Amino acid sequence: MPRTIYLPFDQLHRDFGGLKGADPARDQILMIESSGMLASRKWHPVRLHFLLSSARHFADELRLEGFTVHYLSEPSIESGLAKFHQEGNPVIAAEPSSFSQFQRLQKLGVHFIENDFFLTPRPLFHKWAAGQKTFLMENFYRAQRKRLNILMESDQPVGGLWNFDKENRLPPPKKYEWKPYFSHARDDIDHKVAKELGISIDETWATTRAGALAQLEYFVEVHLPSFGPYEDAMTTENWALHHSLLSPYLNNGLLHPQEVVNAAIRKFDAGEVPIESIEGFVRQIIGWREYINGMYWFLGDDYRNQNHLAATKTLLPLFTDPAKTKMNCMKENISDIKERAWVHHIPRLMILSNLALLTGTNPQEFLDWMRESFIDAADWVMVPNVIGMGVHADGGKMMTKPYAAGGAYISRMSNYCKGCAYDPKLRTGDHACPFTTLYWDFLDRHRETFVKNHRMRQQYSGLDRLSDLPEVRLRAQEVLKGLSSGEI
Ligand code: SF4
Repeated sequence: MPRTIYLPFDQLHRDFGGLKGADPARDQILMIESSGMLASRKWHPVRLHFLLSSARHFADELRLEGFTVHYLSEPSIESGLAKFHQEGNPVIAAEPSSFSQFQRLQKLGVHFIENDFFLTPRPLFHKWAAGQKTFLMENFYRAQRKRLNILMESDQPVGGLWNFDKENRLPPPKKYEWKPYFSHARDDIDHKVAKELGISIDETWATTRAGALAQLEYFVEVHLPSFGPYEDAMTTENWALHHSLLSPYLNNGLLHPQEVVNAAIRKFDAGEVPIESIEGFVRQIIGWREYINGMYWFLGDDYRNQNHLAATKTLLPLFTDPAKTKMNCMKENISDIKERAWVHHIPRLMILSNLALLTGTNPQEFLDWMRESFIDAADWVMVPNVIGMGVHADGGKMMTKPYAAGGAYISRMSNYCKGCAYDPKLRTGDHACPFTTLYWDFLDRHRETFVKNHRMRQQYSGLDRLSDLPEVRLRAQEVLKGLSSGEI
């Protein structure tokens, strides 16, 4: 019986999802470029280019293998799929990666098979989460280490600790020679997609399986040994530090997490990676990534609409235009995002989300911006990361306290403050760091919500010791006004 396998653009792997066990003699492939989806948001052109070019390359690889690939340009996924249904073809697909796709394909009668692009099946995560009082990632991560038998010596963690976080919080080093970036040569497909989008492209991101594998090999060889200690650091001297830059490929299927973990562990087993680096990296892949995807499905589709702190401010102009701020940390990060659609997890959480949280920016507006701006921003990534972790809009369902921080944290973990118009130590006056002012003002404004939270005791005793709280409140109003008008 011939089968039509529908292949979404985030499931581009020959051995997983819909293509697992697929046979060119029996199966045909359906891929759909939806003009409606492309025009539905202000997607970052780098993101669009990456997704489209990867899909077109992948379609060609399947053709080379002997598959018939129907690569359609359609107004919508629905219209493309309807054509195949009209012809009486049963269509199968791996379970989609987002609620909206799931519902749309279900309505169209697509037959689902398991989505195995993660190491944790959705029912298994659900079982874990349903048994938890608080959804501590660390507990999930330890269970993952045991279940998957990664970095374990019988039932104990390799190196004697589950977590080397303490070793992995170094600020950027001084006079350090950063290793070069890996670059990806462009081909005709890349150029054609760029032309259609009306953009020019650099060599940052691969758009093929071979390129993604080369990036993995380069990371493991060159950057992994130093990944851990500087994974939270931020610097104007280097945009990637020792980060893997693998998330786009993991999220569009060009790489599978098992392949990534295996490559990293092989290097560790060869004695070439210190424990703090391998542990920090493994935690990102089998811990955080799986946890965020699991929580997305566990918390449900409506979770994205939460706004427990009643945050109503519209998105600040600096998020779309770095010229609209004098804050060096924001300017640097927004410029980096404009260039490559990527900054690492700490600027995302402790700078971008932190500012949205402290300013009371509407969570859904901020979520939309995050979804549109990053190359790897799948719905399942961004909804829990923004609503739960970033802006604490879920009333603490996911995290027991908000990730709110003043300028001191950014000053400690980066070199941004040296070139800034503001001073991270000041909370009042024209040169006060907006983060510092707004941090205290945030604690003050939300005292009732957080004062009884035992994890925030220290922060509130700090607030209670402030002798200039009335001035801080006044300065906070000026800062909010200045940020809205693009003058701060
Ligand atoms: Fe950012 Fe404040 Fe530092 Fe300026 S002083 S770079 S605004 S943290």
